[in-house]
Amino acid sequence: MNTTSAVLTGTGLFKSYGMARALAGVDIDVTSDQSLAVRGPSGSGKSTLLHCLAGIERPDSGEVLLDGKRIDQLREPARSELRRTAFGFVFQSGQLLPELPADENVALPLMLGGTPRRTAVEQARQWFGPLGLTGLEDRRPGQLSGGQAQRVAIARALVGSPKVIFADEPTGALDQATGLEVIRLLVEVSRSQGAALVVVTHDANVAGWCDRTVEVRDGRLAGDEAADQAGTDAKAGFVR
Ligand code: ADP
Ligand code: MG
Repeated sequence: MNTTSAVLTGTGLFKSYGMARALAGVDIDVTSDQSLAVRGPSGSGKSTLLHCLAGIERPDSGEVLLDGKRIDQLREPARSELRRTAFGFVFQSGQLLPELPADENVALPLMLGGTPRRTAVEQARQWFGPLGLTGLEDRRPGQLSGGQAQRVAIARALVGSPKVIFADEPTGALDQATGLEVIRLLVEVSRSQGAALVVVTHDANVAGWCDRTVEVRDGRLAGDEAADQAGTDAKAGFVR
């Protein structure tokens, strides 16, 4: 098995909103066994890039390939199914349904795919141990801390065995220590599941947990580097 092959590729991606150009020609590879951090200033196009790669939005031009097959031209129903089956998502906050207990929030993607509720909840509950959430299965999101809620969101992103997990500022609403714990878990469980991970973050310490970092400036990639020294130091500091 070639473990360094690209699972997801964006080529020549352009996207504008009216007069605002969000992406100005991005080429990017997401490798199946790697975590990739996407950094850059606010408004540089990070979320737009994530949305185009994940089939949430269609680029104006360019191609997105998943396992070598174009997905950018698919119509919304097909992209919606792809998002449910091939991808997992973690956002900054507010993504859990407040009226559902944690285990049903995690089970939701499976239930939407037709898995019976009981089976889905059983599968969902298997993630609570590895993510340090044992005992919180019946809590509503309002009864969870920010870090706990993000770990539930990670469980929900993983439950469908996605090929790629997309996380947009997953630690943006957390304090530094909680945020680093969340990113550490996210990188670890993605890797153990064989899922690629794309993390949008403005935080160098968060990026430091990822295998690779790319920088977005004005809708273009400005750099593509393996984890830098700052990140390595952040990791060492956290482990100590
Ligand atoms: P980032 O995630 O790096 O902060 P975005 O990708 O959200 O940046 O935005 C890039 C640019 O595109 C910004 O100028 C932003 O205002 C614009 N933009 C993004 N989404 C929309 C939208 N839905 N409608 C209009 N403009 C948008
Ligand atoms: Mg953004």
